[in-house]
Amino acid sequence: MPDRPQPRFPEPNTQKYWEAVKEGRLTYQQCADCNTVVFTPRILCTGCGSSNLAWKDSSGEGKVYTYTVVRQNRNPSFAPLGAYVLAWIDLDEGFRMLSNVVGVNDPTTDVKCDMRVKVEFEKQDSGEYPIPVFRPV
Ligand SMILES: [Zn+2]
Repeated sequence: MPDRPQPRFPEPNTQKYWEAVKEGRLTYQQCADCNTVVFTPRILCTGCGSSNLAWKDSSGEGKVYTYTVVRQNRNPSFAPLGAYVLAWIDLDEGFRMLSNVVGVNDPTTDVKCDMRVKVEFEKQDSGEYPIPVFRPV
């Protein structure tokens, strides 16, 4: 099992997000005043500065906006992965997040822009918070 770095708390912007991840839910925020979709989680709307942000559950479905292949990462948390895909994912609800695309035979050739993907929650060797990653559908 992978052993990625874990979030550290208290962290007022993202703690609620990570608690949802632990329950297998991918969440984002939407402003109740101007409807701006907000991600990463924060206290104030990026559209209008309002603090009136509602938490919503994402379907976890989206597509690859763009990506790169990391062929070697010497960080002990990533070195065992070998080559892996780091990608910006456009979720269907209108937010973009940085994650990994997993579950492909060859990460150097098998991921394409606009490929449909769905979130899954990767359990970690140590630490209680899984990491949201994406798999082609
Ligand atoms: Zn707003």
